[in-house]
Amino acid sequence: MNIILLGPPGAGKGTQAKNISARYNLVHISTGDILRCAVVNKTALGVRAKSYMEAGELVPDDVVVDLVRERVADLDCKSGFLLDGFPRTVAQAVELDAILKANETEVDFVLNIEVSQDEIVKRLTSRRVCGDCNRTYNLLFEPPRDEDKCNECGTALYRRDDDSEETILNRMKVYYQQTAPLIAYYQRSGKLKNIDGGHAIDEVFADIEEAVCACQN
Ligand code: AMP
Repeated sequence: MNIILLGPPGAGKGTQAKNISARYNLVHISTGDILRCAVVNKTALGVRAKSYMEAGELVPDDVVVDLVRERVADLDCKSGFLLDGFPRTVAQAVELDAILKANETEVDFVLNIEVSQDEIVKRLTSRRVCGDCNRTYNLLFEPPRDEDKCNECGTALYRRDDDSEETILNRMKVYYQQTAPLIAYYQRSGKLKNIDGGHAIDEVFADIEEAVCACQN
């Protein structure tokens, strides 16, 4: 089973992606996580991506498409994967269709998590991430037990560089201009399932399970 997770920044894609991949045994492919890791390690990919990410802009299509092409060809993806944060433009979606065709597979369905703009800004400005294990917290809704430390490994939490208010607004603009058109793209293929992301994490996940179940039948 191959799934795409769509939604604006702050919709909870990362959190739900972890739940979904664990529940259905899918490889979780987050282009944002791969790019952040490349930036930290100062690889050629990271050096190229850094300035775009800091400004809340999209990294050029060819860079992310190559990255996804290599990753989905890996053996572990043969039994199913979940794409989180990719595609983000219609051009990426078209490339993805070609990549999957070459790998004799396809997208089974697309989960689109919907959240209002006010809620997104509130969520992102209070988001914190563990510097080691990447676990995400929210100071308003899901705070760590110890202020500023990860519950799992005790590492200091940090705010992502692109979670400043100014960059968030740019990321939203980029989302509505470049990524939102994907909703119509996947609606046309009959693969789109809308999920209300405005509820608690467990409730949203229960709705996702229901949608997956309906798609499998
Ligand atoms: P995310 O963690 O998915 O919010 O991604 C963080 C940042 O990585 C984005 O704001 C973009 O700069 C970059 N990025 C991640 N995925 C893509 C993609 N599919 N296309 C272009 N840029 C991306």
